[in-house]
Amino acid sequence: MHELSLSSAVVNTVVKHADGRRVEVVNLRIGRLRQVVPDTLDFYFDFVARDTVCELKYEIIEARLRCNPCAEEWGIEIPHFRCPTCGGSDVEVASGNEFEVESIEIGEDRPEGDLAGPQDSEQEEAECIAPR
Ligand SMILES: [Zn+2]
Repeated sequence: MHELSLSSAVVNTVVKHADGRRVEVVNLRIGRLRQVVPDTLDFYFDFVARDTVCELKYEIIEARLRCNPCAEEWGIEIPHFRCPTCGGSDVEVASGNEFEVESIEIGEDRPEGDLAGPQDSEQEEAECIAPR
């Protein structure tokens, strides 16, 4: 049930970066090892983000391990904590722990009569907000 706190962290980060502008889309990257349940995340995100964010999109990042001595990297669909190349066990998680806002898309709230060129949205980089 950590999806509620994750949703709150995402919304807080997005609102801070949006700085009063209207956010249309939040793009998240979520590592498989975070064990986030997508339906539960959707539910809490809709609750936490109402009136602030229109849409949540996310990409699930597969878990990978990396062997420190030889830098071999492999996916762990089936848990496999030894390096398949050198047989070593000195390994670290190379990916799969992601929980970060990749970008947000912000609507233009230009005043009436503004003659600046049309611009539908801009993208902003957002820092990693993962609570551990
Ligand atoms: Zn190795």
